[in-house]
Amino acid sequence: MCFISLAAVLLFLERPSDVQASSAVSTIINKKGFITKETVVRRGAHVTYAQSGLLKAGEEVIAIVDFTNASGERWLKVQNTRISGWIPAAAFSRQTSVSPYTVKTTVSAAIRTSASSAYKILKTVPKDTILTVKQKFYNVSNEKWLYVQHGTTAGWMREDDTALAQAALKKAYLTFDDGPSSASGAALLNVLKQHGVAATFFMLEPQMRARPDLVKRMVSEGHTVGCHGVTHDKSKFYRDSHSALNEMTICQKTLQSISGVKSRLIRVPYGSKPMLTDSQKTALQKAGFLIWDWNVDSLDWKYTSGQYVSYTLNQIPAIERQKASPVVVLHDKNTTVQYLHQLISGLKTKGYGFSGLTETMTPMLFR
Ligand SMILES: [Zn+2]
Repeated sequence: MCFISLAAVLLFLERPSDVQASSAVSTIINKKGFITKETVVRRGAHVTYAQSGLLKAGEEVIAIVDFTNASGERWLKVQNTRISGWIPAAAFSRQTSVSPYTVKTTVSAAIRTSASSAYKILKTVPKDTILTVKQKFYNVSNEKWLYVQHGTTAGWMREDDTALAQAALKKAYLTFDDGPSSASGAALLNVLKQHGVAATFFMLEPQMRARPDLVKRMVSEGHTVGCHGVTHDKSKFYRDSHSALNEMTICQKTLQSISGVKSRLIRVPYGSKPMLTDSQKTALQKAGFLIWDWNVDSLDWKYTSGQYVSYTLNQIPAIERQKASPVVVLHDKNTTVQYLHQLISGLKTKGYGFSGLTETMTPMLFR
């Protein structure tokens, strides 16, 4: 209430003298928001007025009065504990942070330096460009603007020039082997949940028996579950023509008894090359198993201080040149989970959405 009465007084005192009252429109708005870029604060609602200070980008203010001067420019009377005065309306926004998501342009659209059409164009992107949204802004005209990232350019785009890109999303498939881990399994599921990411788990039979709660949680949270064997021991898994099939059959039964899901999806330990023999492979395939390798190796078992993230992201351009979808091999372990949000954010920035593998997909095999 005090802002309204104060605003009324200040408005009266500070209305620009060169503006005719009949053509000017002012409204008391009292909206809390942020300054979108470094902005000069003036004593009146026109650039000819003296400077009374500077507001920094991100500084919080209350916009008290929305005023359109005789030149048709909208100015705001803003105030915070530090400063009070007039700024161009476009320098103010009501801001909403969002977890990054992806949109697609519906027209050829401009990325601008700030959240208004009055601002400079940094880049114009063609229709159907995929962009990552990091923030939403509502400018004082109540236009919705998105803070978008395209390559190395970051700036502002009208939300009206975009649509949600779900259907057009490129798909990445994160696959986690060797779990469920008592140490990291719950944290891994938490990260995936937080990012709304569906993944695939190729699990070991004894691990599943040790943590059935995590297996059930994977299924209830929309992940794909599959088998990785029992022993994870080269000398046992690859011992003879039926050893691999035997392990996967035991694994499949345990998975089904825990989760109710009879999954045909498997990954053999260390991948199908070079240890899986033709006869082992044939035995598995005859039994209906779908053997999945990968096309992006994160080397997360080796890079334990987060280097696996950039190592993985650096492989994506080559996968895209092959017009393939990344199937990334990762492990259910602490040092992977610790940096996983960086990998997911990096892939989202590149325009990827995430899915679990399905039995209708053609399995990716090394040979
Ligand atoms: Zn493994």
